[in-house]
Amino acid sequence: MIVNNSLDEIKKRENALSFISKIIEDNGRNFLYDLTGLSGGFIASNEDLNLLETYIGPAVIEQELQSVGLEHLGGQKVLPVNRTSSGILATILALVEKDSYVVHFLSKLPAHPSIPRSCNLINANYLEFDNFDEFYIPENTSLVIITGSTMDHQVIDETIFKKVIQHAHSRDIPVFVDDASGARVRTVIYNQPKAIDLGADLVITSTDKLMPGPRGGLMSGDEDLINKIKVKANQFGLEAQSPTCLAMVNGLKNFTEDNLKNGFLRKEELFNLLKDDFILFEESSTSVMISPENLKKQLKVNSSSKDLAYALSMILLKDSGIITIPAVSMPSASATIRFDLSANDAFNLDLKDLHKNIVSAISKLSKIANDEDRLKEIIFN
Ligand SMILES: *Cc1c(COP(=O)(O)O)cnc(C)c1O
Repeated sequence: MIVNNSLDEIKKRENALSFISKIIEDNGRNFLYDLTGLSGGFIASNEDLNLLETYIGPAVIEQELQSVGLEHLGGQKVLPVNRTSSGILATILALVEKDSYVVHFLSKLPAHPSIPRSCNLINANYLEFDNFDEFYIPENTSLVIITGSTMDHQVIDETIFKKVIQHAHSRDIPVFVDDASGARVRTVIYNQPKAIDLGADLVITSTDKLMPGPRGGLMSGDEDLINKIKVKANQFGLEAQSPTCLAMVNGLKNFTEDNLKNGFLRKEELFNLLKDDFILFEESSTSVMISPENLKKQLKVNSSSKDLAYALSMILLKDSGIITIPAVSMPSASATIRFDLSANDAFNLDLKDLHKNIVSAISKLSKIANDEDRLKEIIFN
């Protein structure tokens, strides 16, 4: 295996970022197509920016964030945090006791690594299920977590969503929903209610997923629970700072459902083009994607499936300026190659060109897929 641990993942990310910066220097931003669906926008006027003083900023910005945040997520009180991972950690620190259980249901494994890692940190027991027939809540459970839409945008069935909440509430256990992309994907594309309206006690969303906001997490829910989590977030420095909060406010105000709806339609078009070449591509809400395992099957080689995905992501970046998550992601993120057609840059791409670029990147990868040295060179250099 080439990418073996978190440090290797940081190195491949640094390599991808330096390549992106070189493309910008040599040709300009217009030669990059960010199809990750994580736009990381920072919308702010000069007047807004003048508010960014340590104690004056929060006075104005946090109040506004309460109102736009509650409108987006429902609930009684919102809490902005540095990342979705930070909010997950703060919640587990605040609500979960050592040796008790955290039970997680999601439509398809794997879970976001921040959930098991946070449990591990405080010596809690972690159980996860992606099959409702096997789902159960053991004695001594502190928290039930539901993922609304997974890292690869696989969305939970609404009936099962409600059943998991009922199960937990019949035992007086709070329910926390990881709705990183789900707060928008579930509601806009699948017409599901907000997590809070389905009965969840707490929800978190990622403010740069499928909306024009900064990387950050926004939580909402029951006021008493949010207050407990806020204490932990402040004690450990996990809360979002004023600049992030400002961009969250403006990101939420500028969020429209149109990009998601158009992305959904264009996804169907790209999927139809690709399925003649590759049978193993899959579709999710606004994306066309291939998992590392399916990529390996497609290429019929023995190399590690994740290494193949990292290499393909790098080839797409180097040859066509297309940014997908595996090249640029944080450690342990999904290595699925996903083209998000709701991303702003996707609307500047002709789908026939995108199709051609994907076919040529996979064909290039197939020629070196058994050559560990060549793969290594592409991933790290
Ligand atoms: C993206 C994501 C997270 C983590 O978001 P970060 O900004 O990387 O902390 C957590 N859970 C799910 C389901 C996600 O998709």
